[in-house]
Amino acid sequence: MSLTPMMEQYLRTKQEYEDAILFFHLGDFYEMFFEDAEIASRVLEITLTGRDGGPLGRVPMCGVPCHAANSYIARLVEKGYKVAVCEQVEDPKSAKGIVHREVTRVVTPGTVIEGQFLDDKANNYLCALYRGGDAWALAAADVSTGELLVTALPEAESKGAVLDELLRLAPREILVPESMASELTAQALLFPAVITPRPDSVFASDAAMDVIERQFGEAARREPWARHPLTGPAVGGLIAYLAETQKRPLSHIRTVRQYATGQYMVLDAATRRNLELTNSIADGSRKGTLLSVLDNTETAMGGRLLKNWIEQPLLDPRRIAERQGALAAIADNALLRESLRASLRRIYDLERLAARVAYGSANARDLLALKNSLSATAELKEILKQTDEPFLNGLERSLDPCADVRELIQQAIDEDAPVTIRDGGLIKAGFDAEVDQLRSLARDGKEWLCSFEARERERTGIRSLKVGYNRVFGYYIEVTRANLDLVPESYIRRQTLANAERFVTPELKEYEDKILGAQDRLLEREYHLFLDIRERVSNEVGRLQQLAASVACLDALNALAVAAVRHGFRAPQVDEEDRIEIKAGRHPVVEQALGAGAFVPNDALLNAEQRLVLITGPNMAGKSTYMRQVALIVLMAQIGSFVPAESARIGVVDRIFTRIGASDDLAGGASTFMVEMRECRTIVKNATSRSLIIMDEVGRGTSTFDGMSLARALVEYIAERIGAKTLFSTHYHELTDLESLPGVVNYTTTVAEDGEGIVFLHKVVPGKSNRSYGLHVARLAGLPEEILQRAAAVLIELESEKKAAVPAPKPPVQVLQMELFGSPEAHSVLEQVRRANIMGMTPLEAINQIYGWQRMLLSESDKKHTKVGRKP
Ligand code: ATP
Repeated sequence: MSLTPMMEQYLRTKQEYEDAILFFHLGDFYEMFFEDAEIASRVLEITLTGRDGGPLGRVPMCGVPCHAANSYIARLVEKGYKVAVCEQVEDPKSAKGIVHREVTRVVTPGTVIEGQFLDDKANNYLCALYRGGDAWALAAADVSTGELLVTALPEAESKGAVLDELLRLAPREILVPESMASELTAQALLFPAVITPRPDSVFASDAAMDVIERQFGEAARREPWARHPLTGPAVGGLIAYLAETQKRPLSHIRTVRQYATGQYMVLDAATRRNLELTNSIADGSRKGTLLSVLDNTETAMGGRLLKNWIEQPLLDPRRIAERQGALAAIADNALLRESLRASLRRIYDLERLAARVAYGSANARDLLALKNSLSATAELKEILKQTDEPFLNGLERSLDPCADVRELIQQAIDEDAPVTIRDGGLIKAGFDAEVDQLRSLARDGKEWLCSFEARERERTGIRSLKVGYNRVFGYYIEVTRANLDLVPESYIRRQTLANAERFVTPELKEYEDKILGAQDRLLEREYHLFLDIRERVSNEVGRLQQLAASVACLDALNALAVAAVRHGFRAPQVDEEDRIEIKAGRHPVVEQALGAGAFVPNDALLNAEQRLVLITGPNMAGKSTYMRQVALIVLMAQIGSFVPAESARIGVVDRIFTRIGASDDLAGGASTFMVEMRECRTIVKNATSRSLIIMDEVGRGTSTFDGMSLARALVEYIAERIGAKTLFSTHYHELTDLESLPGVVNYTTTVAEDGEGIVFLHKVVPGKSNRSYGLHVARLAGLPEEILQRAAAVLIELESEKKAAVPAPKPPVQVLQMELFGSPEAHSVLEQVRRANIMGMTPLEAINQIYGWQRMLLSESDKKHTKVGRKP
């Protein structure tokens, strides 16, 4: 027994796409077989059936209807699978032998283009990595927008920088040369990305150069990124993969933007996470992030650009001033702001529309959306003409609303065009003479049929006579059984039904040819005209992309202006002075959460004299909030935004580092403390005197003495060796004596005590705190009284031991007795006696308690007597 030709064809195709799930076009379904079927039935929750596979026995099979295939493909891709779509590429009716089939596209997580599967306000990157020695290059393409970026990462700390960039770009799929795959797969645990190993040969420089030339033209060979030994192969490897999977010209990928991470403020992954720039720590969503406060964009591309701005703050005060100037002009003019918003709101995702046009997947509705968007961009241009702000004027000049494209769509595409492009109704009346003629023929034909029916009823006297249509027999006359004796001789019988018979006449057949012919030709003509129009629009994709970029920039600026007005942000002065000076600053996100007027503003000053601010104070008093707020204000200033402060003077910083809170990296095999120490290492190895460092309670993850020693050593190192502007919070009050180091100052968060408990004032002021109030906070949190009392007793014990251990200067003998009597320990015992809940104790507990107090007092006096005894 041999395989059926279909099965043979399937197996041959599958061999070429082993790593993908093969969707095999059979009639109205895409079928999957073997393991593919098992996976798909599980993931898509569809029934697994079987099919006789000849010598292979019964073969597992499942299928999805063609018309709904896209959503099934999306679900598989979402789960990280690749899908190869194998289509019938000839009409089964005209095929001799088995229908010819070909894989027309491989959908992978990094190459999804359909809007419904993409996040509007985030890019969907496919990245390629390439390494030479210790240096790396990273290329990233978003097929859905046509953007292509590449960067070479400097050798020092290159691997860390690669991870940081990957985490920033958050690609869905990463291409790596096969020889590096195993090494990178371990790292891949960090990303929710699919790692796709590719033959090393596609990255080889000759192969890469050829691919680059094919995509970007001959001149591209001379571009610095193409000639660079790492970025060239990275781009080449990426384009080769796109060509292989997409199997069509990607004319919307037209340029490569090379960037250097050094052009922007560096934000490592830990800092982006800690500052909750675009994703919250709690659940990874946008809620509670800086982005959520600033993102008032109206368009998808504006949203994507603003996210990029936040993740890549600028370093050049002139560029920052440009954005700020434009923002100020919009913020100051409510009318301008509102009219910009109203027009922006009508603009669809131009970038992705243009990409779909170039990709050949745009339908008539997409073109209509494009046309409407273009009309709105023409309005934007008019609105911008009203301002005389230089940056906005520049935008106005660069804004080409592509009137020719709009005009073409306006004239050609019917406003009520359907989603499908094969069923007609696409072309507007009056655009094409042939379409108009065929339509009237089809329409006239229908009228003729009606009158024919009426005539025949009249002629035969059969009142129930009907003219109908089916695919097999075409148009026919139907007469019920009861009236058969009235049927004229000239009728030709075609079909007998239970209750009726169907006939034709030569006249009817003649008209049928005319009508059906016209209909077929109409559909064909409309389809071809549509393809032609789409092609003509596609020739302008470069202009459309440029327009999209201008609109995105305007939208992002407008969004920042809206945020500034809504939240009372002010323009900071940004320059290269070596200081950060913030008056009445607020945390942009916490402020929103607390509601109007509840947030207590705080100043901040970091300059040559005041370089490292040590912050002590109780838990919950607002130390973390304060430090993050300073970092966020600096970051906002450097993206060109206004800031939540009464005034701010910000000297640009090259990098913000943060070491905040506890986070496990269990997947990466590191404990909380290990993560903390690694972050500290990153900071001390990379920070410069132009950096801003935020360190929150370093050393918390280990024993008190280890922690305190490490914290002290870190402060000393940063203050003496690095000189970065630093905010360092600690609960080790002992560290406050570090103010003797140059540039180190103490600040504290203020609290007020009101008899029973404490009230946080959230004010950060110069000075030190000498108590941590941890137990007060525990009481506020509602811990049971029994635990609180026990903790108070342990604390006193510990503190007395610690004091004993600290080699303090020895007191003269004569004061000793008095000191013991009035010592803090004795006071604490007295305090505990006072607070003891006697009525709540059993006799045994009471005895234990008294025994404990006695031991504390005795051990204290023993220690002191021993010390005295040793005194020479
Ligand atoms: P811990 O040491 O426990 O981390 P902390 O001193 O760092 O505490 P934060 O986490 O910064 O304290 O702040 C605790 C809470 O206090 C915040 O969630 C916020 O609700 C409130 N808070 C902080 N700063 C302010 C402020 N300036 N104005 C009003 N409320 C504030």
